[in-house]
Amino acid sequence: MDFRLTEEQEMIRDMVREFAEKEIKPKAAYYDETEEFPLETLTKLAELGLMGMNIPHEYGGSNVGTIAHSLAITEIAKGCAATAVTTSVTNMVAEVIYEFGTEEVKSKHLPKICSGEYPAGSFALTEPQAGSDAANLRATAVRDGDYYVINGQKTLITSGEHAGVTVVWAVTDKEAKKGKGISAFVVEQGTPGFIVGKNEEKMGQRASTTNDLFFEQCRIPKENLLGEEGDGFKISMMELDGGRIGIASLALGLGYAAIDYAAEYAKEREQFGQAIANFQAIQWMVADSYTELDAAQLLVLRAAFLKDNRLPFTKEASMAKLFTSETARKVTIRAIQILGGYGYTKEYPVERYHRDVIVTTLYEGTSEIQRHVIARSILGRKLGVYR
Ligand SMILES: Cc1cc2nc3c(=O)[nH]c(=O)nc-3n(C[C@H](O)[C@H](O)[C@H](O)COP(=O)(O)OP(=O)(O)OC[C@H]3O[C@@H](n4cnc5c(N)ncnc54)[C@H](O)[C@@H]3O)c2cc1C
Repeated sequence: MDFRLTEEQEMIRDMVREFAEKEIKPKAAYYDETEEFPLETLTKLAELGLMGMNIPHEYGGSNVGTIAHSLAITEIAKGCAATAVTTSVTNMVAEVIYEFGTEEVKSKHLPKICSGEYPAGSFALTEPQAGSDAANLRATAVRDGDYYVINGQKTLITSGEHAGVTVVWAVTDKEAKKGKGISAFVVEQGTPGFIVGKNEEKMGQRASTTNDLFFEQCRIPKENLLGEEGDGFKISMMELDGGRIGIASLALGLGYAAIDYAAEYAKEREQFGQAIANFQAIQWMVADSYTELDAAQLLVLRAAFLKDNRLPFTKEASMAKLFTSETARKVTIRAIQILGGYGYTKEYPVERYHRDVIVTTLYEGTSEIQRHVIARSILGRKLGVYR
């Protein structure tokens, strides 16, 4: 077993770390306050090769692998979580198109995602009645000659209003058993009948948009089907396995950002005539936080390693997301505790790290759903909620 990163992985991590420190972090509070979409930063990230990290060069990707992707998302998240989630989801959308798209669809959309010509990609699975129970979709796609006609509503969709391309899941066979009659489609921004609805006002990751999407007689070419008809639910679950590594990496970045800040603060802040870092109570919070985050990163990198080596990684990705998001949430609270009353104010960034981290235990499968996935994989498939 070799825990060392390759030279290329180290180089990418260091490059993104420097970029995030100089160009992302200074704007994060502004983006949080204004909810302005970080378009300029995202374009620069695309120029650095960070939007198609698992996409071959022939489609414009950098093809550096999941470990490098994880390291990059962690570094971006230290700067700005909204930028990191947009990057993570866009990479996931590129991957699903690469894995399951026709040659025509891949050649048309992947270069635009990778180059930043599309500000983002979006992944539209959730509906008002289908959150954790993601197979309970009502949106439909009906074949009409050379087209499919999509009708229905999606909700809570990251980057919905900015995405050049959206992957949409809809029921193509109402008679099929639950989860079997769903298909996945690529829908371009601006397609008639594709209507972007409200952007939710959120407690964290505020510069990332979270939209309702409506489909009203939305006609798309039959070539925009991803994989085979009826494969959609399986495709969504496979892609979410990879997405969970991205979200775990993001949570990790927030955890480190919070405790790095708090540790430095503890060395400067004096009470009772000495730095608060001298108090064992503070030292233990720091020690526990770094220990738990390092353990979390080992889980994340193991899942990334398995994915890169095309080995099964569903359980490991869920373990990584569950443990990392819950750990990072706890660490951001400790960081606030270390800063005392100031930690609760907007003068300091730790309250933002905490607001930003909470959603990592919710999206791309809540912590409860990760536990289902893990338990099902250990105890047997019949236990699962996705049968
Ligand atoms: C900021 C943000 C961005 C998002 N981006 C996207 C996106 O880009 N694309 C997309 O498709 N979706 C997206 N989502 C939706 C997200 O994936 C869902 O919110 C999530 O899957 C949970 O669904 P729900 O909100 O409907 O909660 P519910 O499913 O209603 O769950 C409510 C509670 O019940 C629990 N629960 C539900 N079922 C079970 C069970 N079987 N056992 C135990 N507990 C259970 C949950 O864990 C949770 O605690 C986003 C959400 C947010 C907040």
